[in-house]
Amino acid sequence: MTDRHPADLTDVLASKKEAFQLPEGVIYLDGNSLGVLPKHVPDRIAEVISGEWGTSLIRAWNTHSWIDLPARTGDRIARLIGAPAGSVVACDSTSVNVFKVLSAALSLRPERKVILSDNGNFPTDLYVASGLKLLLDKGHELRIVDPQDVGASITAEVAAVMLTQVDYRTGRVHDMADLTRRAHEAGALAIWDLAHSAGALPVDLTGARADFAVGCGYKYLNGGPGAPAFLYVAPDLQGRVTSPLTGWMGHEAPFAFDLDYRPVTGISRMTVGTPAILALSALHAALDVFDDVDMADIRRKSVSLSELFITEVEAKCPQLQLASPRDPEARGSQVSFRFEDGYAVMQALIARGVIGDFRAPDVMRFGFTPLYLSHRDIVEAVEILRDILETQSWNRPEFRARAKVT
Ligand SMILES: *Cc1c(COP(=O)(O)O)cnc(C)c1O
Repeated sequence: MTDRHPADLTDVLASKKEAFQLPEGVIYLDGNSLGVLPKHVPDRIAEVISGEWGTSLIRAWNTHSWIDLPARTGDRIARLIGAPAGSVVACDSTSVNVFKVLSAALSLRPERKVILSDNGNFPTDLYVASGLKLLLDKGHELRIVDPQDVGASITAEVAAVMLTQVDYRTGRVHDMADLTRRAHEAGALAIWDLAHSAGALPVDLTGARADFAVGCGYKYLNGGPGAPAFLYVAPDLQGRVTSPLTGWMGHEAPFAFDLDYRPVTGISRMTVGTPAILALSALHAALDVFDDVDMADIRRKSVSLSELFITEVEAKCPQLQLASPRDPEARGSQVSFRFEDGYAVMQALIARGVIGDFRAPDVMRFGFTPLYLSHRDIVEAVEILRDILETQSWNRPEFRARAKVT
C-alpha cells in the first residue's frame, strides 16, 4: 500500500521487529497497554514448565534459582530505569507495590499527613492511597491537584509526592528530577510510578534521586498479561523501611520458620509471598530483547514515530483533536487524540487491524513501541484511520457496543 518510508532505511532498531511475534495484518499501537510476545518466550516457558517444574520439581527452587528470580528479574529492569543492581525487585502487581512503597514512605515522615498526587495519575494509585489512608486511620489527607500545579503544592505538610511520570491518557511527562528535588527541599519523599516509562524512554532514578518507584511488567517490558510488576527503593532508604505486608519472603530467614518477623537486608524485604515463577520466567525472558538496546535509540525512534503520527493525522484526519503535548520532549511514547465517537472509531480501526485503545470519555490512545514498529506502519495506520473517518464506516451498532475492557 505504501512505499518504504525513508526514515526506516536508517533505523538502527529495524531488525528488532524479527524478535517479536506479530500477527499478520496487524499494526500494533497498544504496546503501552500490553506488549507484544517476544518469539523466544513460549519455548522458554515450555522449558520452565516441562524441564524445570516437570523434572526438577521442588528441587528447582535451588537448582534453577527460582528463589532468586524476583531479584534477578529486578536487576535486569534496574538497568533500564537508571537504578543500581540490588535496588529493584519484580513482584506482585503495580497496585500492591504502590501500597507497599507509599506505606513505607509515610512511615518515614510520621509527623506529616499529606499525600500529594495529581488528577492525571492512574486511578488505581489514587484508590490504593485512599485505602491506605483509611487503614492507617492517622488523619492522612490525599491531596489531588492539577498536574501543572504539583510543584507549587509541595508544602511542609507533604509527606510523600506520589506521581506517575507519564500520564496514561495524554502521554504528558513530569520532570522527575525537578519535582523530586522540590519534594526533597520541602522535606518530602518522592514516589514515581513508571508504568508508562520503563522500556519506553530513558529513566534515571539514581540521577533524579527518586526515593521509591514502581512500574508494570506487561506494558513496554512485554512480560505478558498480568506480568509481575517491579518496585524500587533507593539504596540509602532500604535499611530504614519495611513492607506493610510482612510476608515470609521478606523475612531474614524464611526457612528458619521463626514466629517473629525480621526483615531481610536489602530490597527483598519488600517482597511478600511465594513468587509466581511461570509469570516471572516470561518477564525475565522477555527482557532479553533489551540486552543489546540503548534506551537513547528507543527514545529517538519513539519521538520520530510519534511526530510522524501527529503530522499524518493532522493532515488527513482534521476531525480529531490532539490531546497530547505537541512538544515531543513533554511526551512519553504515546499520542492521544480526542473525538466524540472515539470508542466506535477505535473499534472500527481494530477491525481493520490497527490496534490502539480508548480511554473515557473521548480519548483514542496510540502507543509507539520502537522495537516492533516502523515508520511505514504509522503511515499505513493513519491511512486506514483517514478512510474510516471519511467513509464514516465506524458508525455502526457493532462498533458502538462497549466491551468490558476498553
Ligand atoms: C497500568 C498502570 C497500572 C496498573 O496497575 P496493576 O496493578 O498492574 O493493574 C498502575 N499504575 C499506572 C500508572 C498504570 O499505567
